[in-house]
Amino acid sequence: MQTDIYYLRKAIEISHESRKQGNHPFGACLVNADGDIVITSGNTYSTDLGIGHAELNVARQAAVLLPADQLLACTLVTSVEPCCMCAGGTYWAGIGSLVFGLTEKRLAELTGNNPENLTMDLPCHTVFDAGQRKVNVRGPYPELEQDIIAAHKDFW
Ligand SMILES: [Zn+2]
Repeated sequence: MQTDIYYLRKAIEISHESRKQGNHPFGACLVNADGDIVITSGNTYSTDLGIGHAELNVARQAAVLLPADQLLACTLVTSVEPCCMCAGGTYWAGIGSLVFGLTEKRLAELTGNNPENLTMDLPCHTVFDAGQRKVNVRGPYPELEQDIIAAHKDFW
């Protein structure tokens, strides 16, 4: 098992690749109980529009790939705090833990009122707190803020 920072750096790499491929600069991965990265995804705006979020892509793949007990031991790692849709996807997929780098509030300062990403003001803690099952959340990681923001430079 590596540190959260290690996996967040992977998610940041994916966010850069995602942007290069014509999508929004977000990246996510799923880490299993052994510390292996078993699923990765960038944003897929170019094909899926507003619901092509990286975390939801990972959660959907995870839910069909892994049994429930393994999902509970997995961690979804994402460069930016998940929106309510992706926090919901993490919850409904049955993933046990979530790690994020940058807060949704900070993201909103970057995206402004860009119609392609009308960032909400609904922290993932609020979404998870409404559930019947606990999801362990770790983040933000301010030491990675500049690296995460670099992927968004002059994008929105
Ligand atoms: Zn989302």
